[in-house]
Amino acid sequence: MSSPTTALHPYPTPPRSPPNALSDSSGDSPIRVVASSRSVGPNGLCATTIVISNATGKITATFDSVVPQSEFPQGTSYIDYSPHILLPGLVDAHVHLNEPGRTEWEGFYTGTQAAAFGGVTTVVDMPLNAIPPTTTVANLHEKIKAAQGQCWVDVGFYGGIIPGNAGELKALVSEGVRGFKGFLIDSGVAEFPAVSSTDIEKVFVELADEPTTVMFHAEMIPPIADSVGDDVQTSLPPLQPHGPLNAYATFLASRPPAFETYAIEEILSMAHLAPNLALHVVHLSAMEAIPLLRKARTQGINITAETCPHYLSLAAEKIALGDTRHKCCPPIRTQSNQDQLWDELRQHLLDGVIKTVVSDHSPCTPDLKRLPSHVPGHVPPAKGVEKALQLDDESGDFFSAWGGISSVGMGLPILWTEMTRRGLVSSDSAITDVVQWCCVNTAAQVGLEKQKGQLAVGFDADICVFDDSAEWVVEPSTMLFRNKCSPYQGKTMKGQVQATILRGQDVFVRNGPNDGFVGKDCVGQLLLEPRTKELKRVKSWFKRWIYDFGGD
Ligand SMILES: [Zn+2]
Repeated sequence: MSSPTTALHPYPTPPRSPPNALSDSSGDSPIRVVASSRSVGPNGLCATTIVISNATGKITATFDSVVPQSEFPQGTSYIDYSPHILLPGLVDAHVHLNEPGRTEWEGFYTGTQAAAFGGVTTVVDMPLNAIPPTTTVANLHEKIKAAQGQCWVDVGFYGGIIPGNAGELKALVSEGVRGFKGFLIDSGVAEFPAVSSTDIEKVFVELADEPTTVMFHAEMIPPIADSVGDDVQTSLPPLQPHGPLNAYATFLASRPPAFETYAIEEILSMAHLAPNLALHVVHLSAMEAIPLLRKARTQGINITAETCPHYLSLAAEKIALGDTRHKCCPPIRTQSNQDQLWDELRQHLLDGVIKTVVSDHSPCTPDLKRLPSHVPGHVPPAKGVEKALQLDDESGDFFSAWGGISSVGMGLPILWTEMTRRGLVSSDSAITDVVQWCCVNTAAQVGLEKQKGQLAVGFDADICVFDDSAEWVVEPSTMLFRNKCSPYQGKTMKGQVQATILRGQDVFVRNGPNDGFVGKDCVGQLLLEPRTKELKRVKSWFKRWIYDFGGD
């Protein structure tokens, strides 16, 4: 299935924020100090004071109490955020920023601004949906060019695996990609075809001893299936739909759990070719895949998985007719599946297969969602586009709508809201679990475990200030990504980010001037330092950190 076209509308990147004096608040002092009665560090949730070097943006000291301002030299910038929680800035290891080439869907400026708004200080950009895709060194350079000076948070890049590009991969590792992603099923965009088992074999041999992570969109149509399925993102209806195309149940039935388990079995069958290579399943949805992965890990296969806030907070039974804002692949499954994903995350914190929770922010222009006019986010198609999109009165068709959910920067409140609903937040371990899934483990997944994801000496002073009791409603004004179309619109959230600090500098301050984006400029950096060969240590590091977090 070919991609829905490029550049349907001109969506110019907004102008840079005007200069604002607030970013100079540190004055001439060599340090900045932040503190709170509640902060998530290696010892769990406790009072902490954090000293930050203004020269390096790194944490230089921490104290296990709120040290009063009077203890620091006069003129030192000092904020006690109590009772808000200080946690490491989130590392979202799965976003699609789509620039260059589909900048009308998203862009570095808007996507990273939405990230900063939600306490995310690092995003890692997926190799597809931008044009060109990040499948060669030359293409990576184009992406870097597009990103420079446009990022509100730090940005890393994945490389893409497509048929025939195995020869590019080692060079991409040297250029600093944080990992690779390939598809086992049609990706929905023509320039990023799926790989066959022969391609995967070549990739495993090529990358066997490289310091990287190879990730897969693990859906595959089994040889004999009730459904003929559809392409991942947009598609024709199945040949024999089992119901109306605007009913979510019809779409869900077309992508059964067997698509995920079959794909994972395929990956595992080749894992012996690269025993040292870290393997990873992106956006796992079906619980049926967990036993397979658990067994593989007990056999020594180095494979992990991630899941997403939408699989943990939305349920198939509640998706209204035609509300294609909920379409993503693999699909959002039943309430029972959601409950089991939570059980896996919580009960298997030590030895579970789902190590990380990431947004999989995958936006498009609202017209490609084919939303019926009564669903928030609906926009009438642009002039002249009706024909190109073959729009007709079948809007709300889950099979022709683009698959992807917009939520970068919303992960923390979504998880907190759901954990509140489930009665989990009374325990101190609730917030430390979130930090494990969204900061510590995501940083490790992309080789940033010594720089990001912890409030500890030597780490970047990336800090999210979280008001865990605030309630707010998701509205277009709180969705800072380019296209205001998300299934969370209108939902009441528990927990709100009050400020986001990136390498010691305020990036976002709620109710601050300039809509809260108080800096003079985008200060996000591109994370292009190549990963180093510490695969064994990364693997054991997971365990070490989990033990640290688990307390005694
Ligand atoms: Zn994705």
